[in-house]
Amino acid sequence: PAQGEPFADIFADFQRVIVPGMTHWQHPGFHAYFPANSSPPSVLAEMLTATLAAQCMIWQTSPAAAELEERVMEWLGHLCGLPSGWSGVIQDTASTATLCALLTARERATAWQANQAGLNGLGAFTVYCSSETHSSVEKGVKIAGLGRQHLRKIEVDDQFALRPEQLQAAIAADRAAGLRPLAVVATVGTTSSCAVDPLRAIAHLCQAEGLWLHVDGAYGGTATALPELRPLIDGLELADSYVFNPHKWMLTNFDCTAYFVKDKAALLRTFEIMPEYLKTGIDQQVNNYRDWGIQLGRRFRALKLWFVLRSYGAEGIRCIIKGHNQLAQQFAAALLARQHYQILAPVNLNLVCFRYAPAHLREAEWETLNPQLLAQLNQTGQVYLSHTRLAGRYTLRAVFGQPTNTEAQVANLLRLLDEQVARLPMQ
Ligand code: PLP
Repeated sequence: PAQGEPFADIFADFQRVIVPGMTHWQHPGFHAYFPANSSPPSVLAEMLTATLAAQCMIWQTSPAAAELEERVMEWLGHLCGLPSGWSGVIQDTASTATLCALLTARERATAWQANQAGLNGLGAFTVYCSSETHSSVEKGVKIAGLGRQHLRKIEVDDQFALRPEQLQAAIAADRAAGLRPLAVVATVGTTSSCAVDPLRAIAHLCQAEGLWLHVDGAYGGTATALPELRPLIDGLELADSYVFNPHKWMLTNFDCTAYFVKDKAALLRTFEIMPEYLKTGIDQQVNNYRDWGIQLGRRFRALKLWFVLRSYGAEGIRCIIKGHNQLAQQFAAALLARQHYQILAPVNLNLVCFRYAPAHLREAEWETLNPQLLAQLNQTGQVYLSHTRLAGRYTLRAVFGQPTNTEAQVANLLRLLDEQVARLPMQ
């Protein structure tokens, strides 16, 4: 528009055009993908961050933001039982953190020569992950200049976790072919089914082979706030880097990714840049987070994490996570009690992977019915589920991860399932 408009008109259009066209991620019936939690303290912090509108690129451009980031990352590491002595930084997304891990691995393996002279003449580096790993790893491998054809997607077991003996065989084959194995990405809570790779076994392998181990706990990482779920990250102290997303399951508005590294110096050496106009007198004494990742300009993301951690406390957060996991167990048990459903993956956290599989029909018919069932469920407008494929099977996914989720949502979803199954053909 050439001329400014009255804000009342703009806001009326927001309500009329935008809101009805949004997918409502904070709705209690949102069971799709993984949640992107919000919460009142986090929203308030986002408003303050927007109002302050500060650039947190170096310590001097926002001292309180830099100091707070350091402090909340310490709190988060403590809350989730991360190895002591690691350093944390807030990134925008897990995809970015994983890219940072791959770049740091690349630089360490080349004694920082790739940064200096480029990748020419350094050989072909290979990266390993499971066939269930999130696509951000493939994207990171592409962007890091390693070449997608050098990413090995290792076979998983019947729990959808990476098989270490297959990993070992792949590394050996690549070495024999003259390639340079570089890094492994293991996952705590895969996107399709929340599978957990055997970290300790993978870490031992990485140590023996001299490979960087990055652990992607983007979703599952929040769960280790519960001490009884710390076994999920057993062996993490042997890894090199770890990412998880408070912006998924820890009540903190997108975007807020927690990236932790064992060797802070390696990270900084990979990303450091020192133009004259950014030099200050205290660079040796403080954290300048511009050197801890890709971007220079940074939002004040630590504030929302601080508000959330202080408002809920460790106990409040644990109570919510535990409740979600229990709802998933209840839902899975109720499906099994109905007999015509199969649970297609272990219910490790708060995600249930299932399909409608009535005994009087066969596999091929289940494959046709389940996409239809998903479409019908979502068309009710009361719930939103998404799907995946596990071991070749079309799989419905129901996540119980909204702060507002209670047993009422389990009952509601079961009722809708019953209603929509009755409307399917071939009943
Ligand atoms: N890793 C896993 C296991 C995920 O499930 C996801 C997203 O759902 C990601 C990485 C990417 O997260 P982000 O959107 O923060 O890049």
